[in-house]
Amino acid sequence: MNVRDLLAQAVQDLSASRSTIEARREAEWLLQYALCVDRAWLFAHADEAVPAALAGQFRCCVSRRVVGEPVAYIVGRREFFSLDLRVTPDVLVPRPETELLVESALEKITPNACMHIADLGTGSGAIALALAHERPRAHVLATDLSAAALEVARGNAQRLGLANVAFAQGEWCAALGERRFDVIVSNPPYVALGDAHLDAGDLRFEPALALSSGSDGLDAIRTIASDARRHLLADGWLLFEHGYDQGAAVRAVLDANGYVDIATKIDLEDRDRVTEARLPATRAIL
Ligand code: SAM
Ligand code: GLN
Repeated sequence: MNVRDLLAQAVQDLSASRSTIEARREAEWLLQYALCVDRAWLFAHADEAVPAALAGQFRCCVSRRVVGEPVAYIVGRREFFSLDLRVTPDVLVPRPETELLVESALEKITPNACMHIADLGTGSGAIALALAHERPRAHVLATDLSAAALEVARGNAQRLGLANVAFAQGEWCAALGERRFDVIVSNPPYVALGDAHLDAGDLRFEPALALSSGSDGLDAIRTIASDARRHLLADGWLLFEHGYDQGAAVRAVLDANGYVDIATKIDLEDRDRVTEARLPATRAIL
């Protein structure tokens, strides 16, 4: 079979549970991976015959995807904020909507200042590494409770040659020791326990630790909002990613903890996604 026919067959198999545009994009990613080529090669060689063994490997990848395994786990990588990240089933697959959290944090990090930043629950390292890459003068501390996730994040930092990121294992702010930061960011788990989404689609394959947090999904956000008061410098910023229907609840949590300048930002799909807030010096816990 040639490249064109292999792709067409895969698009058909994948279209059953997703749009044709998505099926096409995923089929291309999987074929690029199976053949070790880039996207341009696929178009330039559409008539080229694919050796049976490679075609077999590709079909095997497509079958895994058909039963729901995320493409990023099958190919072992995902692009985030223009960085090529390795991902394994130990980490959440970085999401496009999380780029809004990075953009919002970058607005708070002066380019040439030597600011201290923490990323709580770093997973693949996506947020921490994007910030470290965009702000080479900043010092970024990336934390996670999962040792396996931290291994993945460390590997990504090394591969990308980012030396301004350090790593610490532990529960949320406990991993920060006595340190204080100009900016603390987190995309914590925020799906409610028992939410039907956890049993559908790609989420079934991702670590439960990365996804759910208490009966309303807000346990991690409540803990971090409270404990971060011991770890923010005067007028430091705290930024969360959260669910599209959690904006008002997250603002209320931040307000109850003494934060000011609380604002929610909407993602590309026009949904509440990121909330930021500043901790005045008078509200910091010394
Ligand atoms: N920051 C990555 C991203 O945006 O792609 C991963 C975010 S994932 C939604 C949440 C992360 O928080 C997971 O890597 C998980 O292991 C970590 N985590 C869960 N509970 C934690 C806890 N109690 N303390 C620290 N990290 C925790
Ligand atoms: N955005 C993820 C979803 O697909 C959830 C990630 C998280 O809990 N931080 O629902």
